[in-house]
Parts: sequence; C-alpha cells; structure tokens
Amino acid sequence: MTIRIAIAGARGRMGTAAVKALTEFEDMKVVAALDYKGEGLFVHGESLTDDANGIPVYTNFDLLANETKPDILLELTTPDTVYENMHRAITYGIRPVVGTSGLSIKQIEEITKFANDNQVGGIIAPNFSIGAVLMMKFAAMASRYLGDVEIIESHHDQKIDAPSGTATKTVDMIKEYRKSHIQGHPDEKEHLPGARGASIDGIRLHSVRLPGLLAHQEVLLGSTGELLTIRHDSFDRSCFMPGIVMAIRNVMERNELIYGLEHIIE
Ligand code: NAP
Repeated sequence: MTIRIAIAGARGRMGTAAVKALTEFEDMKVVAALDYKGEGLFVHGESLTDDANGIPVYTNFDLLANETKPDILLELTTPDTVYENMHRAITYGIRPVVGTSGLSIKQIEEITKFANDNQVGGIIAPNFSIGAVLMMKFAAMASRYLGDVEIIESHHDQKIDAPSGTATKTVDMIKEYRKSHIQGHPDEKEHLPGARGASIDGIRLHSVRLPGLLAHQEVLLGSTGELLTIRHDSFDRSCFMPGIVMAIRNVMERNELIYGLEHIIE
C-alpha cells in the first residue's frame, strides 16, 4: 500500500527536506502541497512554478482533500496556521503528522480530544530527531534523582516562537519523574527582568537565538557537589527525517493522536 501524503509548508526549510526524503521510499507518495498562495502551480524545491512535474499546490483544503485523497497531512508551517490545518485534516479523516511548534497546551488538549473523538490517528512531535527524543527521555529519568533542573535551548535566529516545543516537552516529561518544587534561593530577585529565564513548575528555561545555530538543547541537572549535563545538537535538518518517516508509518496503525515521538521510540 502506498501512503499518500499532503504537506503543508512544502516550500519551507523543513518541507523541502521532507519532500526530498520521502521520495526515497516506495511506500510513500507526496500528492499535494497545502499553501496560502500559488493555487494551480507546483512546488519545486523552495519555488512555485508551472512545471507539472512538481507537487500540485492547493490553497483550498476541501479541494485538496477531495482531489488528492491523502492519508496523511504533514504539517510544517507556522504557529498561526497549524491548529486550523490539523482541525481540517481530522474532519476529513486525514491523519495529521505535525512538526510545527507553538501549539499551546490548551490547543494540544483540544485537538487531541477532537482526533480521539473522531478516531483519527496522528502525532504532534515537538522534535522528530531520534537523538533529541533520547536526550529528553534520559533527562526525565535523571530528574528523579537530580531534581534541580535548568534547560538552555538554542536555535537559529529565524525561529518565531520561544521557548521551543522541545524545551516545553522536556519539562512535561521531567514532571513525570521530578517532585515539583521551587528551585534556587527563596528570596531570589531579578534585577533585570528575564535574567533567570522562564519558569515552568520551578524549572528555568532559557532561549538563545543566534545565526549559525540550528537546534540545540542542554539539560543541566544539579545536586550537591555534582552536575549532570545532557546535551543534544542537530547540525542538519536531515536528522529530523527518519523520525518523520517513522511517525508517518506509525500513525497509519493508530486511531488516536499522540504527543511526542517518545511514544513510538520505546
Ligand atoms: P520555514 O522555512 O519558515 O517554513 C514554513 C513554510 O510554511 C514557509 O514556506 C511558509 O511560507 C509556509 N507557510 C506559512 N503560512 C502557511 C500557510 N497558511 N499554509 C501553508 N504554508 C504556509 O520554517 P521551517 O524551518 O521549515 O519550520 C517549520 C516549522 O517546523 C516551524 O514551526 C519549526 O519550529 C518546526 N520545526 C519542527 C521540527 C521538529 O522536529 N518537530 C524541526 C525543525 C523545525 P512563506 O515563507 O511564504 O511564509
């Protein structure tokens, strides 16, 4: 069976890497690109052209769904777009595989319920890199014993949202192991707002944005007289592709929405 895939964000950095990667698999076919412009054109790499050898562009979701009948919507767009696209896909029984960051916890809860009520499988994966998922898992395990944690996530300076979806997901996973408590000195004062970063459940999160970076995260776990640092670096977008392929195949077997690739990588 060939898995039919529509990509939202096919012209983007992740989208172009995904189009290239998915063409290598015989059981997958990219059948459509969902865009906000370029109706009737075709995606070729980062460009929209009239060369029909590319991926056909649709700006209307109903038309895309009815004409190209995808099994999967691979969502790689922006925080403003992703929720609506997921909602539309689920309405048609199209399984969302979502890499786009910036969904709020409330949105994730709502869309998970909507998918589950409709028995449509899917995944929201803050990070498709298998190494990054292992970094999160190891950090969560370690926080049971070393419960004072700070996270430094670093990304390229074109990233719109902060903190990263990976950082907030790491905190979510840590919460399952770490006893909730406020870290640092009880009378701590910030003389410059933001100096201590954001706080979730007492865990401090710091976001670095610089040209030259791609996606990096360090989890620092401190205890008396010792520090454990767990670090992951993505150097190239190719690191996300095996996770995307794994997720697409996996959600074809599901009828519920999962949050995080760690539910697939046991
Ligand atoms: P990007 O290069 O900016 O690509 C986003 C693409 O989406 C652009 O081509 C943009 O078009 C297009 N777009 C914007 N609005 C749209 C709409 N309404 N419908 C369809 N397409 C639309 O960004 P990127 O680096 O590829 O990243 C995409 C997303 O993936 C981000 O949220 C990023 O944080 C996330 N990400 C996830 C992972 C992961 O492992 N989960 C890894 C890396 C990145 P214009 O350029 O014309 O606006």
